[in-house]
Parts: sequence; C-alpha cells; structure tokens
Amino acid sequence: MNYDHIMVRFGELSTKGKNKKEFIRILARNIKNALSDYSNLEYIVRLDHIYVKLNDNNPEEIIGILQGISGIQALSLVLKTDEEISNIKKVSLELIKLEEGKTFKVHSKRANKKYPIISDQINREVAGEILRNTNLKVDVHNPDILLSIEIRDDGCYIFTKTFKGAGGYPLGVGGKIMHMLSGGIDSPVAAYLLMKRGLRIECIHFASPPYTNIGVIEKLKDLLSKLNVYQESIRLNVVPFTKIQEKIYEVSDESYAITIMRRMMFRLASELSKRRNCVACSTGESVGQVASQTLESMNVINEVTNVPILRPLVTYDKIDIINLARKIDTYEISIRPFEDCCTIFAPKNPKTKPSLEKAKEYESKFDYESLIKEALDNVEVIYIKKED
Ligand code: ATP
Ligand code: MG
Repeated sequence: MNYDHIMVRFGELSTKGKNKKEFIRILARNIKNALSDYSNLEYIVRLDHIYVKLNDNNPEEIIGILQGISGIQALSLVLKTDEEISNIKKVSLELIKLEEGKTFKVHSKRANKKYPIISDQINREVAGEILRNTNLKVDVHNPDILLSIEIRDDGCYIFTKTFKGAGGYPLGVGGKIMHMLSGGIDSPVAAYLLMKRGLRIECIHFASPPYTNIGVIEKLKDLLSKLNVYQESIRLNVVPFTKIQEKIYEVSDESYAITIMRRMMFRLASELSKRRNCVACSTGESVGQVASQTLESMNVINEVTNVPILRPLVTYDKIDIINLARKIDTYEISIRPFEDCCTIFAPKNPKTKPSLEKAKEYESKFDYESLIKEALDNVEVIYIKKED
C-alpha cells in the first residue's frame, strides 16, 4: 500500500477572507516551483487545501521540501478512495495497521454535506471495523493513533500521519524589503523571519575594502544560498562604504563614530530601497544587544529616514537567535571569522545615549550627500540563486 496524495493545509491563511484566493494562488505557485524537479506530480488546488498527487514519487522527500515553504501549516500523507463506505472501512483498516500504538480514535469530517452518512455514523462504522480486525482499543481523549477521514465532493481522504509546516504566509504576498545583511549571526535570521511572513527580500551590504576582506562576499553568498530554500533568487547589493567610513573617523569624535556610521547606513539603505521599489528596510537589530542598539541610540539613528525599518529580532534573546540560526543552517557560516566594518572601526567607548545635535554637528563637517550618491552609483549587484 502506498500513500497517493499529500494534503497541504494553510492554517492562518484560512482567516484571511477576500485575500484568500490570491494567497492560495501564490502558495500553489511556490509549491510548484519548489517541486519543479518532480515532473510527474499533479496538483489539485482548492479553497481549503492543496493536494499533491504523488504518482509513485517518494513521499518523505517531498514532505521534506514542502516543510521549507512558508504559508503551509501542516502536511498529511493521505490515501484517497471513493465515498463508498465499504471502501472507506477497508482503506482505514489498511492504514491503521501500518501505525504503532495501542489505542485509536476516528475523526471524520463531511465537507461534502450531501454525503448521506453523518460523521458520527462514519466514525462508528470505521471504529467497529478496526475493533473487529485488530487488537487496538478506542481512546477518545488521548489516542496513540488519530485516524482522520475527510469526505469531499471528489472523494474521501484518509490519513494518520501529519507533519508540521513552516507556518507564516506564502512568500511574495507581502511586498519587497531592503534587508541589511552584515555577515553576522543576526541578520540572516532576521531575513528568514521576514520571508516566513511572506515578504520578499533584497539585501544591501556595506563593504569597506581593504579594511574588510573580499572573503566577506563569499560568506554572504554562502549565507544567502541557505536562504534560497525560502526565496529562489536573492539580489545582493554591495555598497562601497570605505570612503564614507574614513571620512566619519576624520570628522567625528570616536565615541560618535558608530552612531554616525549607522546613520549613513540607514540613509544608504533607505535611498536604495526607494530606487528598488521596496516598501521598507530591515535589520537584525535586537534591543539592548550593543551600544548602538539601545532605544536612545536607535532613535538617533532612525532619525535620518522616514522609510519604515523592520526589526524582526527586536525582542529576541541571543540564545534564541542562535537556535534559529542553527535551524536554518546559517550559524556555522556566520561564525566563520571575518572582519566586519563595525568590528574594525569599533570605538572603545561608543555612546549608549548619543545626542542628536552632536551627531548632526559632526555630520555637518563633510559633504556626505555626494558621498552617498557616489556609493549608490557604484553598487555591485550579485544574484544568488537556488542551485539546480
Ligand atoms: P549581525 O549579527 O546581524 O551582524 P550584530 O548583533 O552584530 O548583528 P550590529 O553589527 O550592530 O549587530 O548590526 C546591527 C544590524 O545592522 C545588523 O543585523 C545588520 O542588519 C545591519 N548591519 C551591520 N553591519 C552591516 C553591514 N556591514 N552591511 C549591512 N548591514 C549591516
Ligand atoms: Mg554585526
């Protein structure tokens, strides 16, 4: 006996009213893209579920791929049969015999209300068949095996095995974000959380050669190739940041260098986000982590822009960020040693409560606007794509 379908459930999507159709369309497209290597799969797209007809493909492999797709709440391996009650009983028995456990419960649902037998009656008939032919006992409160039966107008779907999906929203439903990617632990995790909410990302990185070596770009490519699981093609914009950074250290007191550097980063990211039609920018900042991430500091930094800045990790503890980084497989790449523009220029005593006036005063000492324009005109663009 082989499972013949995977049932894909949307969960949170179901509450989305009039957008639902569009969400399902995008989710179905994402699923088909992710499974494009399997040419003989078939897809049945409905308002309540998407079914993937396996046609003898390996179900575990396909479940594994589907678990990486955002917008999917749960996945079940199912057997499909017609509505004939004798067939439902036969298939249910076959299926439950494959399971380990001592107790069971049957739960049936009649999505097709024209079906002549009510759910309770289906439960009783199927449970009776199982009791007569196995040593299993019924436990309605805490069963080892839950056998689910769904009667729909195109047939009956029976399943016992359900797998957790990634949750969130289908990628692409929420617009595009300009994400600031550093090469550290936090920003790739923040990117993952944004994508999980259905947002597409494009990345911006501030590079300071020769202070930071070119190995950083390889590192960013490796990080983004892990995120390709969620978004097939990611554009990375590498901004030459050296001139601006050198200027900052020339004109400002060391304790203000980080504040001003981050104000420049936000100006650059905001401007590029407008040019690239993004709806917001985002970072891997978490409140209180370092001097530049106190609320006072974040306010002074944020003052330069009116583009919304998303900070998905704002309340996360470092340990939770690390756990997530491990889960999405970016941690080992992030901890590879490398020199980052922040570490190289890190002052001994950065201001935790910088004053906006002071920051503006230092900035007035150089023509940063033309340096910003020059940097943006010299962006290097790299596309990181899912490998075939
Ligand atoms: P991360 O682990 O993401 O590097 P962090 O804890 O080291 O974060 P910071 O170095 O203060 O914190 O950076 C905060 C955020 O600013 C980063 O998460 C990232 O979004 C952005 N950022 C910092 N440096 C760069 C850079 N060189 N290029 C692009 N974005 C950067
Ligand atoms: Mg960092």
